[in-house]
Amino acid sequence: MSGRQIVIAGGGAAGLAAAVTAARLGAQVTLLERADRVGKKILQTGNGRCNLSNTAVAPRAYNAPDFVRPALSRMGCEALRNFFASLGLLTYADAEGRIYPVSDAASSVLDVLRLSCEEYGVRILCGFEAARLLPNGTVCAADGRTVHGDAVIVTTGGGTALLQSVGHRLTPFSPILCPLATDTTPIRGLSGLRAKCAVTLRRGGQALVTQRGELLFRDYGVSGIVIFDLSRHAQPGDLLSLDFLPDIPLGKLEELLAERTAAHPARLGEALLTGMFHSRVNAALCRAAGGRVERLARTLKGLCLEVKGCGDRKQAQVTRGGAVLSEFDSATLRSVRIPTLYAAGETLDIDGACGGYNLHWAFASGILAAHSASGGRI
Ligand SMILES: Cc1cc2nc3c(=O)[nH]c(=O)nc-3n(C[C@H](O)[C@H](O)[C@H](O)COP(=O)(O)OP(=O)(O)OC[C@H]3O[C@@H](n4cnc5c(N)ncnc54)[C@H](O)[C@@H]3O)c2cc1C
Repeated sequence: MSGRQIVIAGGGAAGLAAAVTAARLGAQVTLLERADRVGKKILQTGNGRCNLSNTAVAPRAYNAPDFVRPALSRMGCEALRNFFASLGLLTYADAEGRIYPVSDAASSVLDVLRLSCEEYGVRILCGFEAARLLPNGTVCAADGRTVHGDAVIVTTGGGTALLQSVGHRLTPFSPILCPLATDTTPIRGLSGLRAKCAVTLRRGGQALVTQRGELLFRDYGVSGIVIFDLSRHAQPGDLLSLDFLPDIPLGKLEELLAERTAAHPARLGEALLTGMFHSRVNAALCRAAGGRVERLARTLKGLCLEVKGCGDRKQAQVTRGGAVLSEFDSATLRSVRIPTLYAAGETLDIDGACGGYNLHWAFASGILAAHSASGGRI
């Protein structure tokens, strides 16, 4: 048992998991949170249900597979579910492998973390905004207060620069897992409608990645889980190619439209698509095909929208960028600059796919940093 004093800056997913873990290993833990309560963001996750992991968690789902590998090999999906089970949380996997609390309430996840902090004697200081770190393990608040630890774990989340105060470099921040702003001419009038599509992201004529799922049209572009996922890979100037009938090959679709034309000669223009999609989608597709029946099949298989950027920053689930990974040891999450300093969660330059991967990283890395900082083993 360590008996060490550990200070954790940031009381989110990573910070709370780190606090419980270090306290269980016998450390005296102080958790600093700038807000009036810990774990507020956990309550918003998974539409209030908290998708906390995924059965398919693996390094390839993240931007830096080699860096996340040690944490994930120690704390995969089953191990994380066992960690939560040991705190009292029951979980289940849905048909897509996403892990949720059995209560379907994100508050259950936060409740077991908070209660466990209480049980293991974690000291929680809310309203403490860590403004500066000192290399000797002192954390300074903006209002002049200081807290000292034998080790400090920074878990202040995405888009935060606390680690810069001790010389760590940051890669630029940008919102991801978000709706995308696109050229809106082809989708004028569709805002609020949904369509099940296969969406391919293209750059310079190359198909980068294809995802299938429900897409939501917005005034500024497109949203929906399929778009949130693709937004991790998209950059301005890329093209989104929407296939409205991914199970029907182009040739078959051309035949089908020819049969419809023969069967209903009076159905001209968008009327030819009546019964296939929402009438406003039919109108948009016909407009994009320039009203020409012979171009309709290709338009249905590849309506192109140019990406402009993030469509709504407030909806972004993750911030790309953060502390430069080469300045941390991936096996321990210890700083290579300051031996008493550790970091975990989104404050590091790690992002993962939609579906529980980001919370999994936050929890798994928080647990790993706590073990390393307390001198314990998982
Ligand atoms: C709407 C929404 C839904 C999401 N849904 C999911 C989901 O279902 N599944 C999933 O895997 N991921 C989801 N995510 C992403 C996930 O929430 C994050 O990846 C995860 O919370 C990151 O954990 P963290 O502990 O690193 O950072 P955070 O959870 O952001 O916690 C950081 C904490 O540090 C505090 N803090 C910041 N600066 C300071 C400072 N200077 N001093 C003291 N405290 C500070 C903050 O107030 C915060 O409490 C969602 C995100 C959003 C916004």
